[in-house]
Amino acid sequence: MRKIGVFVCWCGSNIAATVDVKQVVEEAKKMPGVAYAADYQYMCSEIGQNMMKEVIDKHNLDRVVVAACSPRMHENTFRRAAEEAGINPYLVEIANIREQCSWVHKDKEAGTEKAIALTRAAVAKVTLNSELVPGEIDVVKKALIIGGGIAGIQSALDIADAGYKVDIVEKTPSIGGKMAQLDKTFPTLDCSACILTPKMVDAAKHPNITLHTYSEVEKISGYVGNFNVQIKKKARYVDMDKCTGCRICTEKCPSKKAKSEFEEGLKNRGAVYIPFAQAVPNVPVIDTDECIKLKTGKCGLCEKLCPSNAIKFDDKDEIITEEYGAIVVASGYDIIDLNKFGEYQYDHPDVITSLEFERITNAAGPTNGKFLRPSDGEKPKKVVFIQCVGSRDKTERGKSYCSKICCMYTAKHSMLIKEKYPDIEAYVFYIDVRTPGKNFDEFQRRAVEKYGVQYIKGMVGKIFPEGKKLMVHGVDTMSGETLVIDADMVVLAAATKAKSDAIDLKRKLNISTDINNFFTEAHPKLRPVETASAGIYLAGACQGPKDIPETVAQSSAAAAKVIGLLNKSKLVNNPCVSAVDESLCSGCLACTEMCPYDAISYKNIEIDDHGKKIKKVVADVNEALCHGCGGCTVTCRPGAIDLKGFTNKQILAEVDAICH
Ligand code: SF4
Ligand code: SF4
Repeated sequence: MRKIGVFVCWCGSNIAATVDVKQVVEEAKKMPGVAYAADYQYMCSEIGQNMMKEVIDKHNLDRVVVAACSPRMHENTFRRAAEEAGINPYLVEIANIREQCSWVHKDKEAGTEKAIALTRAAVAKVTLNSELVPGEIDVVKKALIIGGGIAGIQSALDIADAGYKVDIVEKTPSIGGKMAQLDKTFPTLDCSACILTPKMVDAAKHPNITLHTYSEVEKISGYVGNFNVQIKKKARYVDMDKCTGCRICTEKCPSKKAKSEFEEGLKNRGAVYIPFAQAVPNVPVIDTDECIKLKTGKCGLCEKLCPSNAIKFDDKDEIITEEYGAIVVASGYDIIDLNKFGEYQYDHPDVITSLEFERITNAAGPTNGKFLRPSDGEKPKKVVFIQCVGSRDKTERGKSYCSKICCMYTAKHSMLIKEKYPDIEAYVFYIDVRTPGKNFDEFQRRAVEKYGVQYIKGMVGKIFPEGKKLMVHGVDTMSGETLVIDADMVVLAAATKAKSDAIDLKRKLNISTDINNFFTEAHPKLRPVETASAGIYLAGACQGPKDIPETVAQSSAAAAKVIGLLNKSKLVNNPCVSAVDESLCSGCLACTEMCPYDAISYKNIEIDDHGKKIKKVVADVNEALCHGCGGCTVTCRPGAIDLKGFTNKQILAEVDAICH
């Protein structure tokens, strides 16, 4: 016979106000196997825990039920206390009589009745509980960062500074991401490159960091502490060890038709190119779609001129395999496609995106920082900025969320123009101005009060090109007036969106995305940088729109989580994982299809069938990968797979007890 102790908590008046705890205790005493029952005001307090330990010892209890708050809150507290008293922690059950009972019932009689039923269910379950012992897994002391923008760089530097090896895998030929394209950053207006490029160099030089640029994550398997990752290093056609970055090849390359990605298509680049002057690594890459030699077999000028013999046309993509203990996803964001917004005439050369604006005002950009309109190189006199282009747009062409950064960078852009050219008129069309960050509101007000930027609350209906002008038709919703502004240039604050390859990456990582394809955190408030998959963390705008300070803070937070994980010599496994009864398993492997964590594979075994040895295929659970979701248990028709700690028998006993 079991000797179960039941401890009913008041939770101050949280439970006691709507549950008659004394009555719950009296009823618990009558339940089968219960040897002791008592109530206490705060079971989670030190006094409450000590009381539990003393009672376990005095009455020689072998199982415990605590009727209290949600197990999310204090299950570990009570398990630890029971363990200290000599009971296996998995012989403790929690009856949630707070969140699921006292908080949702006003009627004390009904609340008490439900609390008794929940306690009875916990007693029925704990009667069938068996001792569980967590397994241990080794931790590979190395982290992978996917994405080499400011988020990835910050996480990598923090982890590397803590003494752990880090690999950054970046798709493009250089690290730096979108921040490298920016001119100034808000709200301090410091030069983006000046604060970013030293970090890029630090990352490249750090003895604990390895950069895999022009590379992609191909395949990921394994589990927390032991991820196995295949990385595709795309053929660069330039030997990184031999190249001195002299740029003879990039200057002499006769193919100059490609649009520079870094310059947002406002400038051409060669087939062999370095994305931007401060690129890290500062080594060119050959674009196979543009290279005459690779397309026709002719040319090869770069190969002939390279003083270091670094061009290698026989280069091939290479797959390398690495092991990691933790992964940080820092894959960044994209800008929406503006082709669906015909009313804004984005196909007109003088209608540009904010990112294009950043390049035009950048001293290292295509106009050397002179604010000139792309169509004819003339200095504009009137510039109209349109905010929320595609943001907060519930139609299918836009995004329903706020892109968060546009109000601030539009204020920055208008201010930069007025600072350099006070004679230019700047207008901003907006729905709302949202400036909740530190010193953000002051910054935006400066655009209005100091620089005289004219903010108009209202949206633009349509833009009509007329000669050299762009006639911007909008409404001032404050005055109700219809406005027409004859602008020379229009700047669209286009919505940010999740990376186009986010879904592909989500599948490789086995993590989830929200309805907008941004990666989902495990809990929006309490676990904002973790994913639901252990050992995989999120940093930056791949999780949702973010500005640079927020991105850096989240990246350091993700790094802190990784450091905490890599710091452990062993990881403890959750023992509540599924297990296969091989004698019942039919080998249909339906469970392998259902498992969202790829935790089930199969194995061949030999069984004794009435004295005859027969071979059989059975499901095989990798306990390190199993998250204990229980999906497989309901898929298994012969009932061969069960979840330790939540077996079918235990669940049915609970249900029976509730229906009692
Ligand atoms: S010419 Fe050779 S050494 Fe110079 S940048 Fe090109 S590949 Fe590098
Ligand atoms: S319990 Fe969930 S995670 Fe574990 S093997 Fe079954 S389906 Fe996979």
